[in-house]
Amino acid sequence: MLSDAARGLTDADAAQRLAEQGSNSLSTARRRTAMMIFFSQFRSIIPLLLLAATVISWCLGDHYEALAILLVIALNAALGFFTEWQAEKALSSLRKQAQPQAEVIRAGRHLQVPATDLVTGDLVVLSAGIRVPADGRLVQSIQLQIEESTLTGESLAVNKNLEAVVAADATLGDRFNLAFLGTAVTAGRGLMLVTATGAKTEAGHIGSLLDAAEDRATPLEQKLNRLGRVLLLLVAILCAIIVLVGWLRGGIEFWAMMTIGLSLAIAAVPEGLPAVATMTLALGMRRMARRGALVRRLPAVETLGATTVICADKTGTLTRNEMSVCALFLGSRRIEITGVGFGLAGGLKEDGQPLTTLGDEHLQLALRIGVLCNDAKIDRFTDGSETVLGDPTEAALIVAAEKAGMKPSAQLSQYPRLREIPFDSDSQRMITVHRTPQGRILVLIKGAPAVLLSACSTQYVNGAFVPLDEAARNQWLERNHLLANAALRVLGLAYLDLAEDSPELDFSKGLGFVGLVAMSDPLRPEAAIAIATCRKAGIRTVMITGDQVATATGIARQLGLDTDLKGRSAPTVHGRDLAKLDDAGWARAVQNATVFARVSPEQKLRIVEALQRQGHIVAMTGDGVNDAPAMKTADIGIAMGKSSALARDNADMVITDDNFSSIVSAVREGRIIYGNILRFLRYILSCNFSEILVIFAALLLGWPLPLVALQILWLNLVTDTFPAFALALEPASPGVMRQPPRDPSEALLSRRFLGLIAWQGLLLAAATLLAYGIGLSRHGSDGEGLKQATTMAFMTLALVQIFHAFSARSHVRSIFGRGSFSNRWLWGATAVCLLLQATAISLPPLQRLLHTVPPSLADWAVILTCSLLPLLLIEFFKNLRRRSQPKGKPIP
Ligand code: ADP
Ligand code: MG
Repeated sequence: MLSDAARGLTDADAAQRLAEQGSNSLSTARRRTAMMIFFSQFRSIIPLLLLAATVISWCLGDHYEALAILLVIALNAALGFFTEWQAEKALSSLRKQAQPQAEVIRAGRHLQVPATDLVTGDLVVLSAGIRVPADGRLVQSIQLQIEESTLTGESLAVNKNLEAVVAADATLGDRFNLAFLGTAVTAGRGLMLVTATGAKTEAGHIGSLLDAAEDRATPLEQKLNRLGRVLLLLVAILCAIIVLVGWLRGGIEFWAMMTIGLSLAIAAVPEGLPAVATMTLALGMRRMARRGALVRRLPAVETLGATTVICADKTGTLTRNEMSVCALFLGSRRIEITGVGFGLAGGLKEDGQPLTTLGDEHLQLALRIGVLCNDAKIDRFTDGSETVLGDPTEAALIVAAEKAGMKPSAQLSQYPRLREIPFDSDSQRMITVHRTPQGRILVLIKGAPAVLLSACSTQYVNGAFVPLDEAARNQWLERNHLLANAALRVLGLAYLDLAEDSPELDFSKGLGFVGLVAMSDPLRPEAAIAIATCRKAGIRTVMITGDQVATATGIARQLGLDTDLKGRSAPTVHGRDLAKLDDAGWARAVQNATVFARVSPEQKLRIVEALQRQGHIVAMTGDGVNDAPAMKTADIGIAMGKSSALARDNADMVITDDNFSSIVSAVREGRIIYGNILRFLRYILSCNFSEILVIFAALLLGWPLPLVALQILWLNLVTDTFPAFALALEPASPGVMRQPPRDPSEALLSRRFLGLIAWQGLLLAAATLLAYGIGLSRHGSDGEGLKQATTMAFMTLALVQIFHAFSARSHVRSIFGRGSFSNRWLWGATAVCLLLQATAISLPPLQRLLHTVPPSLADWAVILTCSLLPLLLIEFFKNLRRRSQPKGKPIP
């Protein structure tokens, strides 16, 4: 395990070890294999019913029919398999994309590598917010705290201390100098020498991390499962009644009636519902992933569609988080810095004149605080590009110093760091302690201006520290306010010169103020557009930030976030004011506010809770470790690609491009998917209902049965499948983001929905019976004549269902309007169905099986008229509905 203490392994060494040791991963063998999916198809009731039908047919001597039913079983299984296989494929490709990375030092350079590539001897950087990527011995710990509940069950974070003496028989939880795979770094920084990877780690031994891939059904799947069971019961009762009525009425043998009943039951039970829902959700996830939104939990997709409030971080989500320092304020001087981004183009100017030397003390001191009180790293490549590791706010300070000609590495070797107090959003400042070449102690502080100013008692002016009186402090605060109002991020710089260091030093008073740094962070141009889209869609956008009120308000103004959904000017809420509120106060505070500034992570949680109490479905972004509770509580927790690994672990969705508009596209996608599942449901249920009605009504009318068993099974395979799937793939309707969010408390089958299914099912059945009745009266009700009549019923029912798919696309929009051709799948499905129907009446073997004969021209006229009638009627009623709707209202 030789590796140079500071430089890490060489790349070649690491590659060789990786080959020897294998990948640093715990095998997750719990994936569903194709076989498992295939066999699971036979676990439902449908194949059993089909099998029963096969046996009965065989016993009745109908061997052809029995074989055909077996074929249906196979086709059904194939179809179910295909659906679930698609879903599984989409899911596993998503799992792959969520691979964790680790920061290692190899050959003296900081690198990001996939965590699976770690080997023993690697030097891994640990920082707040990551999961420890392997087992290792700590070689550096700066207030490092690790939460090890995955191993020990103890949820309090452990302080990692290298000096602590560890007894030889200490339990895992007491080994203060070790870090373990899968545990969570909650604070501080550290460096770890990897001692074990993959299966050899502690987590590998006890298998605690074997990814407990949630197999739990989504709420929607659960609802559909429940619905399926209810329908099964309903259908069973109806079919039993049908069998009894048919049998008692006489003329049909009991067993023949039984096959009809069974076929009807098979056709009417929408067995594919949950599978189709899963497939639709999973395919939707895949589409979202392509747009930068990785959904980590399937249920999130359906919740997304119901989102009413999106709470977004300011920095990085609404803005680009490409900070650049634009000015320094030192005493009464103002030094401008040109150039944007992390490149080196640009320079310093004072009073319009370029600053060429770094001669003056004050500027040097300010820049030094910037680069030394700093944990970011910028790797510059020869082609002029760069990568930034760490906080962009800090990277910007490095860039500013480099533009002035100051070398960060030279500074660090001149002023070695003794210790540090890392930045956190509660204290809003970062402190580092250094030794000067003269042996004195230098304390450097940067942080929120108001926090620093209240801790300063002197300020640096013209080469010396002079007392900072109240007037001067207010002047600085005033200046800070002006800068912040211009949407700039402002940091204060302070400093303390001491004879010796001590861990007990109090940094809340007696500091010397050095100056202000103003940084700009460009807005994401798409953010304002996305916010406007949300507004139209009835979704409130709320900006939550740790930054100060003035900066937040400035940015909100530029984003169009300064008014609420109704266009009234919206208040900005200060975290300080939130602290004093009771429940009623919270309710009022979250009612209209669009901006929350200086908010602590704990307040984020309370904002989410207050919104939820008002019935909102809240999506919330988070980036730090501290955001986890709020993200878990939110209906949709969203992490950003650059968020800490822990935040990502807790997220329902990860936005890989950190872009607010990706969240909005995900919401849109969620709405589309939910709408399509409803479409699919409406279509399938009305078709199945019509099939039952046709048989039942014929029995009641005393007519011979209009369909034979295999025709029913055939219809189940043809029309219940292709057009239904096509509906599940319906593209977005133009109004999808112009209507308010759906009411999440609304039942899957609302009364209106059921009414729609009932009356459409009735229409379809009536049309079929009409064709059948005409057929019976034209051809008579025995022998070949009956065959002609049943063929007419069979064809009409098939066509009427195919056509119905077109009107099922929307219950309001006309099928003739714009977008008639936008669902290519539906046209494809129609073509396939028509072709299959044509073979069903013209191919001799199919004719024999399905008891069909080619219809005459006059029969065709009847079939077509009858199958188009419902379509026209439904369109007529849609038209009435559209007229009765107030003008200008969006059409769903
Ligand atoms: P947000 O990310 O929402 O803009 P943060 O919680 O990161 O807010 O920052 C809050 C405040 O803390 C900032 O306004 C700034 O003054 C200060 N701050 C931010 N980052 C640092 C840092 N790395 N070091 C010192 N102070 C910082
Ligand atoms: Mg931040």
